[in-house]
Amino acid sequence: MTVSRDAAGRWFVSLLCEDSMAPAPATTAAVGIDAGVTSLVTLSTGEKVANPKHERRDRARLARAQRELPRKAKGSANREKARRRVAKVHARIADRRRDFLHKLSTRLVRENQMVVIEDLTVRSLLKNHSLARAISDASWTELRSMLEYKCAWYGRELVVIDRWFPSSKLCGACGTVRGRLPLNVREWTCDCDTTHDRDVNAARNILPAGLAASACGDGVRRKWVTFNWPANSTAAHLRPQGRQARRRATEGGPAGTDRRRVAAGPGRVRLTRKVRSARRASGGRSGARGKPVAPECGRT
Ligand SMILES: [Zn+2]
Repeated sequence: MTVSRDAAGRWFVSLLCEDSMAPAPATTAAVGIDAGVTSLVTLSTGEKVANPKHERRDRARLARAQRELPRKAKGSANREKARRRVAKVHARIADRRRDFLHKLSTRLVRENQMVVIEDLTVRSLLKNHSLARAISDASWTELRSMLEYKCAWYGRELVVIDRWFPSSKLCGACGTVRGRLPLNVREWTCDCDTTHDRDVNAARNILPAGLAASACGDGVRRKWVTFNWPANSTAAHLRPQGRQARRRATEGGPAGTDRRRVAAGPGRVRLTRKVRSARRASGGRSGARGKPVAPECGRT
């Protein structure tokens, strides 16, 4: 038993006990999830889950508490009270957000046998520095880790797709990859006359990519799945670039052939799959590299 107190002056008692989770009843449903700015996540079913409404009001409350703090004399009792108030608002924000994310992640994991998400570590670092983005990213990171352990609890499969997968730029109807799609473009029309909602289209592309990765055999922590780039693609810049790709290229393997192939037309996109339970069962490192899968596993 551990007793602790946080910065907001709240006491916590935690009990450690052993328990085993019963897997949730099996289902055949699968869902692709796209993380966004305007809405927190978009599902491949077309459903958009917005950031909770209380988020903004909580921010205003936090700003007020923070303004008060430097006006109090250092070392005074009022200063301590103001500090406590700021900590309380912070704690409240974190609690409400966590509660929201817990409900969302539990729902997603219970309803679906497979959850497919994108690996967004790089994207979130590079793209945008707005506050909305920051909140979204923090929530996304937390949601992802919840999905990871809950999938392991309930016997579900979590597939993480490589960050090079062009989920937004790929037309779900005809397979054309668009050259450029700035973040402020929320809706676009492909040459095949299909109009896409940016986020819904991305989520719908993520799902089959994950299904393909999963169909290529179980027990492999990471795998390569071929992704056929359309010959008319103007998206040459989408191919893996930078240090990672160069490192992979020098190591050989699919990524090495990758760069030349993309330049020539059809190429490969790496898909990553992480299944917590599998990782734990094999006791392997999360960074372990899988073997390339057979070409017949490719998406067309
Ligand atoms: Zn199209």
